[in-house]
Amino acid sequence: MGRIHVLSEAVANQIAAGEVVERPASVVKELLENSLDAGSTRIKIQVEAGGKKLIQITDDGCGMVRDDALLAFERHATSKIKNAADLLNIATLGFRGEALPSLASVSRLRLESRAADEPSGTVVEINGGKIFKVEEAGIPAGTCVTVRDLFFNTPARKKFLRSESTELSHIASLVTHYALAHPEKHFELHSATNAVLVAPPVAGHSERVYQVFGRETLDQLIPVAAVLPLERIGLPQPPPWRRVEGDDGGEPSTPGELRAHGFVSKPEIQKLNRNSIYVFVNGRLIRDRLIQHALTEAYRNVIPPTVYPVVLLFLELPGEEVDVNVHPSKTEVRFRQQTVMHDFVRDSVRAALMKARPIPQFVTEIGARPTASPSLTPGARPVDAPASFGAPYAAAGFALQAPIPPPLTERFHFSGGFSVEGNAALSVARAPQTIPEVIPEIIKDDGCTAPIPDEPELSTDFVPAIASLKPLGQIRESFILAVNHEGLWIIDQHVAHERVLFEKVLKQRAARRVESQRLLLPLVLELTPAQQALFSEISEELNQNGFEVEVFGTRSIAVKVAPAGIEAAQVEDMLHELLDQLSREDQAINLERVRTRIAASIACHAAIKVNMPLEQNKMAWLLAELAQTEFPMSCPHGRPVLLRYSLKDIQRAFKRI
Ligand code: ADP
Ligand code: MG
Repeated sequence: MGRIHVLSEAVANQIAAGEVVERPASVVKELLENSLDAGSTRIKIQVEAGGKKLIQITDDGCGMVRDDALLAFERHATSKIKNAADLLNIATLGFRGEALPSLASVSRLRLESRAADEPSGTVVEINGGKIFKVEEAGIPAGTCVTVRDLFFNTPARKKFLRSESTELSHIASLVTHYALAHPEKHFELHSATNAVLVAPPVAGHSERVYQVFGRETLDQLIPVAAVLPLERIGLPQPPPWRRVEGDDGGEPSTPGELRAHGFVSKPEIQKLNRNSIYVFVNGRLIRDRLIQHALTEAYRNVIPPTVYPVVLLFLELPGEEVDVNVHPSKTEVRFRQQTVMHDFVRDSVRAALMKARPIPQFVTEIGARPTASPSLTPGARPVDAPASFGAPYAAAGFALQAPIPPPLTERFHFSGGFSVEGNAALSVARAPQTIPEVIPEIIKDDGCTAPIPDEPELSTDFVPAIASLKPLGQIRESFILAVNHEGLWIIDQHVAHERVLFEKVLKQRAARRVESQRLLLPLVLELTPAQQALFSEISEELNQNGFEVEVFGTRSIAVKVAPAGIEAAQVEDMLHELLDQLSREDQAINLERVRTRIAASIACHAAIKVNMPLEQNKMAWLLAELAQTEFPMSCPHGRPVLLRYSLKDIQRAFKRI
């Protein structure tokens, strides 16, 4: 019995319409999604010439009976939904019933499929939309789709394809991310010459990250895991614009819950664009402004506002909470409870960052620079020995190397809106480290050096580690050197104090107990009209933060009282900087943001400067204060506060291990 049917016109008309076949990567995406929807556990993809010449995908999924194999090429023929109500709760990746017919019309397509309980399978061949062969064949259970000569009959579209290596890298990125989303499945991607990705099933997402990218990458990530029962936020109702007639009586059974898991990068990993942010909603790779915003919020004051983290986040929520029928490429979604979703993502990621409080490593910080170029792509790796489980690619020593395929800078928008950079697989590696991963020749204990007792476990909890620091002195009256049993630490005195003051100002502001000082003479500032407009919006908040400022004439303000700790000479700079900063932001003024900006600005101007000698007790005081802060590892602008040169690094450098 066939499972596929053609949707009624009424239903078909409710589906976000549009072309989905734009380039080889979008072909792979549609076919891969079909294989996943078919319950496959092994998916193998073969491409030639970046997919332009050939894309073949073989799965072990449910397969199709003969009737279905033919019906699948009709427009709006699908086994995944039946009626309009199903559109409200889509559990599969596909539902439009358009991919196969679209693909068949622009390529030479061969479908081989056999349902497991059928004695034989069906082969269908279609050239540019015309069926020219249908036959029975003895083939393995599952489905194999071969797409040759993409766009052979639409030269205009063919012209827009990029070089083979660019197209291949987009495919590699896509397959990698689906492999990351489904660690329990086997994925393979081969090009004519290389095994680009070979990922047998593993136990979970972290094993998958390790398998695909190696230990180094995994070490740069912090796990996220959070659940929010939806009961607490009210029972979900279908959104008004999607309410279906005759569906008014039934209460939803259980409201379900929101789940988030995955990984986000440590603050020292900073990317110049969003290309390393991957968000999956119910197994679907999406681009969503709301989630992007939540992530930016989570990293506020942890990394600078101009850079982005690496994120691999899997969100799961009841099907009726998310509308995927928004865009033909299915890469955009609409959440029913937007604020709940936004805050859940922000808080889960923030909590993970707070909990991990990762310590910047001295050696990694040396090469740290925000990077735009994605540097880790499985496609990058020349594979001579296909990696099997337990033999991560990193073992081959590529984890910290620059990408191997030709550098690709173009971005493309596939299926509208979902833009991916070339080689945009999860990329977190840094410039090559100065200390080699493996020191080729270990100098054996030659008797002239006494062994150092085993290194204690490096603390993952930050506070005790900082609290036990003993300051030794300053480098150039700017950086404090300190030691504890974990190693040698270097602390940037200015940013350390900035972090301390930032949190103090925010706390005092929350408790409405800001310390302030009256200036000997009021300070008169000239403002531009734009600054003046902004000033009127933030003046109340400035007052709450220990300022007393009055409008003075048409274009000027007079500052009479300023927060304690800022020298009068700095007040002017601070206010100008603040107004400039806020005027550059493109978003509307938001009180929360103004508050943190003011706190960061006060902290920056009141903090101990570099090139300032500090007494021993002052250094000890600063470190003790830093240990008390909530987020001691980076300043409000996202720069690292301290670096640790661990005992292991020291021993390695001295070739003791
Ligand atoms: P959709 O995925 O939106 O339903 P497609 O055109 O991609 O539309 O596929 C049409 C139908 O063909 C699917 O609903 C499914 O029943 C069947 N199909 C496609 N690919 C496979 C596959 N790899 N294994 C089993 N069935 C498949
Ligand atoms: Mg499909």
